Amino acid sequence: MKRVERRLDTCSLTARFTFFVVMLTVVSGLVFGGLLGYDSMRDEVHEQYRIANQRLDFIQEPARFALYHLDTETVRALLQSFQQDPAYRRIDLVSDQGENFGHVNHAPAQPALLTPLIKRAFFNDLPAARDERLFHVSQFNTRKGIYVGRLKADFDLDHIINKATAALFTTFWLTCIQALVLGILVAAVFYASVGRPLQAITRTIRRHARRGQPFATLDLDVSGFELKRLVRHYNEHASRGERYLNELTEANRVLDEQTRRDPLTQDYNRRELVRRLAAMLAGLESGSEPLALVIWDIDGFSRVNDRYGQDIGDAALKEVSSRLRHAFSDGAPLYRLQADIFAMCFRPRDMDHLTTRLSDALRVETTLEAEKSCSTIELTLSAGMALAPEHAATPESLLHAAHIGLANAKHAGQQCLRTYSPEAGERQKRKVAALLLLKERLADGNFALAYQPKVCLKDGSLKGCEALFRLNRGELSAPYELLQEAEATGLIIPLGLEIIRRALTDFAPLLPALDDDFRLGINISPQQLVEPDFSHRLEQMLQHYRFPANRLELEITEATQLINNHAFKDNHRRLRDLGVSFSLDDFGTGYASIEYLLFIGFDFLKIDRQFVKDLPEDANSLRVCRAVLTLARELGCRTVIEGIETPAQEALMRKHQATLGQGYLYAKPMDIDAFKRYCHTRKATPRIPPEA
Ligand code: C2E
Ligand code: MG
Ligand code: MG
Repeated sequence: MKRVERRLDTCSLTARFTFFVVMLTVVSGLVFGGLLGYDSMRDEVHEQYRIANQRLDFIQEPARFALYHLDTETVRALLQSFQQDPAYRRIDLVSDQGENFGHVNHAPAQPALLTPLIKRAFFNDLPAARDERLFHVSQFNTRKGIYVGRLKADFDLDHIINKATAALFTTFWLTCIQALVLGILVAAVFYASVGRPLQAITRTIRRHARRGQPFATLDLDVSGFELKRLVRHYNEHASRGERYLNELTEANRVLDEQTRRDPLTQDYNRRELVRRLAAMLAGLESGSEPLALVIWDIDGFSRVNDRYGQDIGDAALKEVSSRLRHAFSDGAPLYRLQADIFAMCFRPRDMDHLTTRLSDALRVETTLEAEKSCSTIELTLSAGMALAPEHAATPESLLHAAHIGLANAKHAGQQCLRTYSPEAGERQKRKVAALLLLKERLADGNFALAYQPKVCLKDGSLKGCEALFRLNRGELSAPYELLQEAEATGLIIPLGLEIIRRALTDFAPLLPALDDDFRLGINISPQQLVEPDFSHRLEQMLQHYRFPANRLELEITEATQLINNHAFKDNHRRLRDLGVSFSLDDFGTGYASIEYLLFIGFDFLKIDRQFVKDLPEDANSLRVCRAVLTLARELGCRTVIEGIETPAQEALMRKHQATLGQGYLYAKPMDIDAFKRYCHTRKATPRIPPEA
């Protein structure tokens, strides 16, 4: 059954419809035709049988006379009319003596296919023979048992039934032919009005799908209410589908564009740059112009964020982006790779011209609304350039090379353009190695501190010391590159806290044995001081180690940019209120302004070693030292002279009333055990300056 259903499913609608019509006609024809045909067949058989009997009845009287008179001629003549009638198999006229006066013989009819069945089913009651002793001697002598002859007849029922069933079969065949003709007509009409239009619709839909237009409308002229409605509804749905597809395609395009763009500046992002670089590098031909990748970084951009807040930082980034786009409007698109790093690709014919153009566009002066007033911010850019295929051949390595060029530009003092060089690459590698080492040491606390004494120039007493960071014990100087890297990456913040913790641990138990005005000096990075909770954490540490705040001195280098930083000002004020002293380190080497000195209170000014090392011979150095000492006196600050190596330098500084001295003359930086011994020896043999 299922197989039939499956077969029907795959048949065309026309074939199925025709099949059902034909089947219906045949079955109904057979049922009704069969019922009607059966009735007429039965009547026909009985009628034929009746006629055959009747004919025998007709010859009965003449046959009696003929037999009585032994008139064989008449008998023959009577039987003659039955010679042509196959309804009888045999007719015999026999005398009472058994003598045969005449007979008719027919070969039995061949029964048709269903004749025996029909005979048995419906005509079993019909007698197949007739045997009548009807030839009495006279009409008056009808005594029983006295006859002149008899008539015997055998009917050929098969013949009679054959004739009648032939009519039945004729009805059947006619029904079949009629059904067939009807089927063909129905099929033709159905195909013309439904099948063919449906096929045309299917073909058109398929063609549209093949051409990639799944929602194209059907431009078909079909007749018939239902088909017209089908086409109209399909077209309505197709139009709706097309609109939906268009919206979806547009949304996809926008989404794709968004994933390739930076949301803030709408420049393309790093992923897109890498993708396009890959295509450009693949298309590079030998001998053609090189591909130049330039990346820009805003110098000290974090300061803009720190000072003015994120919103102004964002506005500054947008401004830089638009300036760069404007400056190189003839070039390829601009990319924003990360925070304040932008990139662009060039195919320069004239390299010198490009370099000049790039160098001219490294300054951006812009007016931004900051703190409810308009501030003019001057931003400078550093740029790094790398060339393909000369420096690198893959997108990532080209980007890396351009970053090395950028690092080189930063190293060279910012606001300049530097092209990749292998030496800069080596330096970058060293930096990365340094950073790794630093992280390692910070994680396992495997670093050392050295302490260098600070001595009162007046009486030679020990007034303090400076804690200095060392990778390993016994090293003479600090790992400067490492500290720079820590500063550049922000690692200086956790490292600085660890240094404070270690120095407090070392000195907390030592303090009672030292003079009351002995101060432990610790170098602090400006980055630590802009951490909002720095003062709070330091206070907690002081409490934890029971270290009096007034015995702590924080050395900070010149950082004019911090003047307006709220966190810095807060930390500074809170710590000074606690009693912590502040020294301005390396004074004279940076750009400390008088404003900085006045607004941010310092207890000590530390004159840098570079103004001391050539004393007493160098008059210029002496002039600077004298001026700084006077300034410090005017500001009410005490002074520390760094790098005193000779007694002459010490004497000169004492003469000019500097407060404290620090240098190899007194002691080189040493570890805590050596420092304890140093204190002990100094107590035993106090060093009295010559003039004292
Ligand atoms: P700084 O704070 O000015 O430290 C003084 C530097 O001068 C130390 O160098 C010290 O060893 C050196 N020095 C002192 N007296 C003499 C002398 O008579 N002759 C010579 N040639 N040098 C002398 P160091 O330890 O190499 O430190 C260099 C700089 O590294 C420091 O300068 C400071 O800026 C930084 N630094 C050192 N330790 C730390 C630290 O723990 N944290 C931070 N943030 N910076 C540190
Ligand atoms: Mg210092
Ligand atoms: Mg210094």
